[in-house]
Amino acid sequence: MTTSHYIAGRWVEGQGSDCISVTDPALGLPFAELMAASVAQVDQAVAAAREALPAWKHTSASDRAAYLRGFAEQLGQRREALIALQMRNNGKPRHEAEIDLDDAIATFSYYADLAEQLPSKNRDVPLAAPGFTARTRLEPVGVVGLIVPWNFPLVTSAWKLAPALAAGCTVVLKPSEVTPLIEQAYGQIADTLGLPAGVLNIVNGKAETGAALSNHAGLDKLSFTGSNSVGSQVMRSASAQCRPVTLELGGKSAIVVFDDCDVDQAVEWIVAGITWNAGQMCSATSRLLVQDGIADTLLARLQQALEKLRVGNPLAEEVDMGPLTSQAQWLKVASYFATAREEGLQCLAGGHALDREGWFVSPTLYADVPVDSRLWTEEIFGPVLCARRFSTEAQAIAEANDSRFGLVATVCSADLERAERVADALEVGHVWINSVQAVFVETSWGGTKGSGIGRELGPWGLSGYLSVKHVTRCLG
Ligand code: NAD
Repeated sequence: MTTSHYIAGRWVEGQGSDCISVTDPALGLPFAELMAASVAQVDQAVAAAREALPAWKHTSASDRAAYLRGFAEQLGQRREALIALQMRNNGKPRHEAEIDLDDAIATFSYYADLAEQLPSKNRDVPLAAPGFTARTRLEPVGVVGLIVPWNFPLVTSAWKLAPALAAGCTVVLKPSEVTPLIEQAYGQIADTLGLPAGVLNIVNGKAETGAALSNHAGLDKLSFTGSNSVGSQVMRSASAQCRPVTLELGGKSAIVVFDDCDVDQAVEWIVAGITWNAGQMCSATSRLLVQDGIADTLLARLQQALEKLRVGNPLAEEVDMGPLTSQAQWLKVASYFATAREEGLQCLAGGHALDREGWFVSPTLYADVPVDSRLWTEEIFGPVLCARRFSTEAQAIAEANDSRFGLVATVCSADLERAERVADALEVGHVWINSVQAVFVETSWGGTKGSGIGRELGPWGLSGYLSVKHVTRCLG
């Protein structure tokens, strides 16, 4: 049984009613347990954040930057332990767990720099009217609740935590119940660095704990990453309290491959876009649109590439893809395999769970999937790729945009003018041209349409935790 709630600078036992089992998905076996935080403990965490706010928001930008650099450095010092824990609890292959850690480190370093620049962003505002001066002042939004999912625990938490602390906000973070141990590193680092008590609080738990946080009247803002169904509940709570909310939700993203592409290179991008993290990425490019001229060749090579992937336990062997992270996710993906059979889809690779211990499924490819298929329209969150053919650029753009989601897209073409034109026409928050899933901390992250509200990363991520105050003075 693990103590895993960090409230007002102290580690405390959970007093909630839910017992959370932390599982190794490659074996399907639990390796730790903890009690969820109670609603009263969520109250304590919010109260601690409120109490810490006045002093924290008045720390100098350079002091906050020093804490953030400390987080980056301390993450690096915990490197091996954090990589091993992600491999064990998420089922990530080693190189993916390393990428996540490096991403979190880069995020804290980047927002340390932005924190230092913050005072210089306050400026005088020239007025057309005589007799007045005006100036802006950027202030922290206040106490923020951060609720995150399980697929990139170190990363999604860093993307919220680093800019929130840089802005001068105090926070209550609720990690996912599927991966509740990983973000404990952030509490341990806060301890090591002597971060003032209450600036960072961590409460673990399931839906009840999440709802207690998102409904809490003591928050000034909530930033949520997760599913659309929970996101809409979180938005309802925000609207009831009339306060801002950032939502990073699901996706059903397209990868558009024109027939001037090198087929082998395109296959590499397509496979990575649907099998990294076993396809459990909001940004998985799970809808392949391939131009007629290369469709047959590309689908045949894709089938071979998916069948060749090494799927297994990342802690026991060298693998390209690990298991799905939870049994619930495994059951969900299996239900889509059943739907595909009912719909009579043409399966070129996989299409089934693996007959072994743990929550493994095979990398899967369905061809010529109808646009009204549930597999074409719904987020599956697994290594399940659906393909369709197109003939013209206009048709590709129309089909890519025909989705209630709008998170990301990839465009593959040797004609860069065309690739840029298509990128401009896609209704999404981020487009990759001739590359796959390359996320840099300086660029923005977030979606259009049903994929969310607001942006993380870059200066936009910091703006989400800042409020603009204007001071207007009469000279008369
Ligand atoms: P989820 O919505 O089930 O859970 C997300 C978090 O919300 C968890 O911490 C959970 O405990 C909490 N929660 C559950 N019920 C709640 C409630 N009623 N009130 C408040 N909080 C509650 O999502 P998940 O299964 O953990 O994650 C997968 C989803 O996350 C996918 O849809 C994926 O696309 C999305 N995601 C989006 C991004 C992005 O940047 N857009 C990134 C990663 C994941």
